[in-house]
Amino acid sequence: MSTVSLKELCDTLEKVGIRPTHQRLEILKYLAEHRVHPTAEMIYSSLKTEIPTFSKTTVYNTLKLLEKKGVISALATVEDQIRYEANLTPHGHFKCIQCGRLFDFELTGVLPPRTEIDGHQVLECQVMVKGICRQCRSVTAK
Ligand SMILES: [Zn+2]
Ligand SMILES: [Zn+2]
Repeated sequence: MSTVSLKELCDTLEKVGIRPTHQRLEILKYLAEHRVHPTAEMIYSSLKTEIPTFSKTTVYNTLKLLEKKGVISALATVEDQIRYEANLTPHGHFKCIQCGRLFDFELTGVLPPRTEIDGHQVLECQVMVKGICRQCRSVTAK
């Protein structure tokens, strides 16, 4: 887990015109420090233990706002809820069909980075690969 300075997160929000309230900063900080692609529900239950005044509505509204302003990215997976992340560098996702965890992987070498496909402008690239993660494989092997 890496620690992210609040000042940095403050700047990120102010740059896109979002007032950096305490709760918004906490949500963004959580996403920046926990690269597990949490759902809104996961973020809520985790922050709730530290800050009991947190409401579910605040979490949902903040995530929507941050996504709209391009501060975070929302990943739609077919079988479960929307997951969020603050890592905006292009990367692919590996989804384990056993434990359901999402892992980031480098797209370099897998897909050439493109800004245009057949005349369409590329804004975002989501690559989802499914399989069995390293940890689940080692459990099955025993
Ligand atoms: Zn797994
Ligand atoms: Zn990711």
